[in-house]
Amino acid sequence: MHHSSRVQKQIGDPVSDTPILPRAKLQEIFDDIQNDMRFDHELNGCLNCGICTATCPAAHYYDFSPREIVQLLWTENLEAIYDAMQEKIWACAQCMTCAARCPFGNSPGGLIMIMREAAIKHNMESAKNVLRPFSRVMLKLISTGNQLSPDMINPDHFADWGPNISKVHAPLALLRKAIPMATLNTVKTAWEVNLKTSVELYTIWAETGVLNQLETIDENLFDVISDIMDEKRDDWSDFLDDQDD
Ligand code: SF4
Ligand code: SF4
Repeated sequence: MHHSSRVQKQIGDPVSDTPILPRAKLQEIFDDIQNDMRFDHELNGCLNCGICTATCPAAHYYDFSPREIVQLLWTENLEAIYDAMQEKIWACAQCMTCAARCPFGNSPGGLIMIMREAAIKHNMESAKNVLRPFSRVMLKLISTGNQLSPDMINPDHFADWGPNISKVHAPLALLRKAIPMATLNTVKTAWEVNLKTSVELYTIWAETGVLNQLETIDENLFDVISDIMDEKRDDWSDFLDDQDD
């Protein structure tokens, strides 16, 4: 007997017999998204009303619609979900305006975050391309505990500022020296993060899988960061040994 289902049975280009990826792989990616513990909390149903897209800032500027993404997940359209993970999901600004407005209590932005994590886990080129420019920020964050520091404000990294950048860039070291707190007399960090806090952050990143994700995306950066962490862990354990003496 034939049972109807809202899950499409056929995937792939309608004029070709060959799917983009084997269905099993698309299913595996979707299962990872659906089995995430946040999924059921973020997707309760969808009446396709479009309120999320109407309020979404990213939808104004890109070929992107949270309504469409939620519908793909709700209808379990495996191929189109994979397709959206190649580009569209990276347009979201994670502002969560959509989550505040959805009459179903969905969080399209939260669902997109789950899809992004799946894209990283499955080593998708889109994830690598989007995250590559952030490697410097990642290195700075992990090595100093600051996401941005004054020495990152330079013309190479803020080309969109045009000539105005020189007003900030050139005298920055001098300007920082004028700040009364000694810990801020540097351009290498925005503020001082102490050793204990740094080591605790490493533990959180390791235990929550952030470092595994980093290794998937950029192995070289992962190696550099691992060395920095080992060094700081050694420093911390030396410090504790000194306290015992
Ligand atoms: S979280 Fe993303 S999808 Fe939601 S409104 Fe903001 S930019 Fe749009
Ligand atoms: S606002 Fe909610 S119910 Fe409406 S389209 Fe967006 S996700 Fe679906």
